[in-house]
Parts: sequence; structure tokens; C-alpha cells
Amino acid sequence: MSDTITAIATPLGEGGIGVVRIGGDDALKIMRSVFKECPEDVVPRHAYFGHAVNSDGEIIDEAVFLYMKGPASYTGEDMVEVQAHGSNVSLRNIVRSAIEQGARMAEPGEFTKLAFLNGKLDLSQAEAVIDIIKARTDMTLEIAEKQKEGRLSETIESIRDSLVDILAQMAVNIDYPDEDIEEAEYEEHIDSLRWTLNSVEELISTASIGRIAREGIKIAIVGKPNVGKSSLMNAILGEGRVIVTDIPGTTRDTVEESANIDGVPVVLIDTAGIRDTDDTIEQIGIKRTERAIASSDMIMLVIDGSRDLEDEDDEIISYVKHIDGERILVVINKDDLGDNVDEQDIQDKIPGCSVLRTSLVDGNAVNAAAKVSSVISNKFDFKNIMRTESQIITSERQLSLLKKAASDIEEAINQLDSGEAIELAEINVHSAYDNLGEIIGESAGDEILDTVFSKFCLGK
Ligand code: GDP
Repeated sequence: MSDTITAIATPLGEGGIGVVRIGGDDALKIMRSVFKECPEDVVPRHAYFGHAVNSDGEIIDEAVFLYMKGPASYTGEDMVEVQAHGSNVSLRNIVRSAIEQGARMAEPGEFTKLAFLNGKLDLSQAEAVIDIIKARTDMTLEIAEKQKEGRLSETIESIRDSLVDILAQMAVNIDYPDEDIEEAEYEEHIDSLRWTLNSVEELISTASIGRIAREGIKIAIVGKPNVGKSSLMNAILGEGRVIVTDIPGTTRDTVEESANIDGVPVVLIDTAGIRDTDDTIEQIGIKRTERAIASSDMIMLVIDGSRDLEDEDDEIISYVKHIDGERILVVINKDDLGDNVDEQDIQDKIPGCSVLRTSLVDGNAVNAAAKVSSVISNKFDFKNIMRTESQIITSERQLSLLKKAASDIEEAINQLDSGEAIELAEINVHSAYDNLGEIIGESAGDEILDTVFSKFCLGK
């Protein structure tokens, strides 16, 4: 008999409605005690309106009760969902009442862990559930939904099926060692292994898009103080989150904010200006700027177009020009105040960069943000990224297992190529099979499950 667990499934805070989940063998029994007007025959998947009560029969709140009979439930076991007012007090009291009736508090992610243990989801699908909950852009959500549907699992299963075929063939060769293994058979194994290696490598190659979905495209906004870096960041974010001031050097630390451009996540890093300074606080900021540039996918260099280029601008230009120009967008700002910086001059100084003129005051900010966003979207081909049909690898765990599997298969190919004993290659093919299995949760130990499910919130 399994424990019956309970938790609030909706975020804590004030809300129209909040949900308490109760799952396990005693779920229905507990519902009978907590639901004041519970009928004798509870029909599964039927909404009942009434009152949630405590163990003294006192009313806690009005609520709707739903009973999902296992295995046709999220976890595969009996489940009850109680929809009450989204009040912390009301929801907590309902949880307490369920606990008084014999339930225990669920661990974070325990409902989904049960769904995994009961075969409702594999591990990669369970990971997709976390990604869906945490998705902040259309792109992240779309990729996670595909993974939740089982697209990745299908691909992994089909690669594993091919490996099983190869292992079966190898076993025949190993079991009949007296028969001379024809060279042609070695070649056949090698060909099949190359094919599977290709499929694994194809998945690995999607990880760079996966990283964008997970972490966002990192864009460092650099430039000397007072040129409009913070104003540009605010314009893209569409709100005034970074303080904008007239005193040069106010943005001392780097500020990171996530934006959503055409559904793709972008992280904007507003940096302090790169410049020689004795001021220690500024120097720390400069170090951060250098680091931000090094770890960014793109640099936006902001220049005050109303003044001639100054030494400080040239310094920053000489600093960034060794970076691939394709990754640089130069924003010549304060267009409303004058036109003292020549676009061609900038393009000559930073070959391959894109250049835009903007003004970020007097209602121009929205237009400027749209222009900048469109350059970013084109540079990274967002439309194409969003259209992608294939399964994208988003988790580090999955990526590292795929890499291990690829190296196992490569090793096996090399062994067969150099005529080593087939038994040795077989060990590596086995290992590839196990590593791929771990992605979907087969042969995954408790430690791996704990790591995956600890990322969940309570009640999921
Ligand atoms: P940062 O130090 O580079 O981050 O620059 P800020 O964004 O803090 O801007 C410095 C000052 O320039 C602020 O007073 C802004 O209002 C002003 N500013 C920013 N962009 C423009 C612009 O396009 N035109 C004009 N006239 N002023 C601007």
C-alpha cells in the first residue's frame, strides 16, 4: 500500500482559485472526510461543489472536488483535486485537514516522480514537465511540449533498437568463435554503428539551440558611460527597470534582465563602460564587462552619435574588434541631438558589424527597440529556430549522456576497424545502450532520480 500524499499545487499568494492535490490509495477515503457533502458514490472525473471541512467538521472554504481514479490519473494512482479560493490560509487548512485524515506532506516533484515510477512518463518526459512549468518564452514552451509528448523518447528508443540488433549480431559472432568471422561482417557492424553514431550526433548538434532555449541568447550592452545603454535596455524590456541617470558611470555593476524577442529568450547584460580608471568599484565593473563580453553571444556597442567619437569609444572599439563582426551590433544613439558619427567609419573600424541609428527619448524608444529586436532576430534566425520540427536537447544531463554514448560507439567502431576482438567492441556498444537508456530513465539510479525531481516545485 502506497502513502497518500498531499500538497498545494498552485503558487502561494493571492489568487482567484488554488488547488490542493491528494494522491495515493487513501485519496478517496480522505476526500470523504474533507468534503462535507461528499456523495456515497463518487463518480470519477466529475466536479462536485460543496465545502472543505477540518477534522471537527468546521467549514474551511467553498470548494470543488474532483476524483481521478487510478490508473487514469497523472500519477497512475487515485488522485483528488480540491479547488478552493486561492488563499494561503484556506489551502493550507485543506492540506492540514487531509494530513489529519492520514495523508502526508508530498516532497517537491513527488507527484511527477510517482508518474515516472508508475510508467506514466519516462525520465525525459518528466524533465519536460519541469521545463514547461519554468518556460518563460514560446520557444522554451514549444520545445518542452514536444519532449513531453515523447518525441525525444521515440528517437532514443529507435537508436537503442538499432543497438540491440547490432548486439544480437555480435552475440552470434561471439557464440560461434570457431567460425571465421568474415571481414564483411565486421564491415556490416561498422556500417550499422556509423548510422547510429550519426543519429546520436544529430541530437547532440541540437544542443546549441537547446542552450538558447534554456539560458537565452546572451547580449552584452557595452559603451562608454552616458551614451544610453540603460535606456536601450529599458526600451527592449519595455519598462524602466534599470535606473537611468545623467551622471557618467552610474551603471557600475552589470545588470541582467531577460527579454522575450519574437518568442525567443534573450538575456540582456547592461555593463559598466570599459575604461581606464583608478576607481575600484568601476574596475570591478570593468572586469565584469570583460567577462560579460567573453560569455556573450552578441555585443551591442552603444555610441553617442551627437558627439564625435572620443578616445573612450575608440578604446572600446579596439577592444571588441577582435570579436567576429557578425556578433556585433553598433547602435549610434541620440540621433535626435545630432549626426556626428559616420556609419561607414564604424563599419571600416569593425568589419562585418551591423549598424543602427536610434533615438531613445521622446517616444522614439518603442521604435528603436523594434529595430534592434529585428536585427537580433535576423542575426540568430529566430524564425527558423521556432519552426524547427526536430527534438531539441535542452538538458545538460541528456547532453552529457549522449556524448558518452557517442564516444562509446566511436570507440567500438575503432576497435572493429582495427580488427580487435568483437567482445571488446561489444562492451562499448552495451555501454552506449545503457547511457542512452539513462536519458529516458532506464537504469537510472536513485541518485539520478533525486537530482532530477529535486528541481520540481511542491505539488507537482
Ligand atoms: P548609460 O550610462 O550608457 O547607461 O546611459 P543612460 O541610458 O543612463 O542615459 C544617459 C542619459 O542620456 C540619460 O539622461 C538619458 O535620458 C539620455 N539619453 C539616452 N538616450 C538618448 C537619446 O537617444 N537622445 C537623448 N537626447 N538623450 C538620451
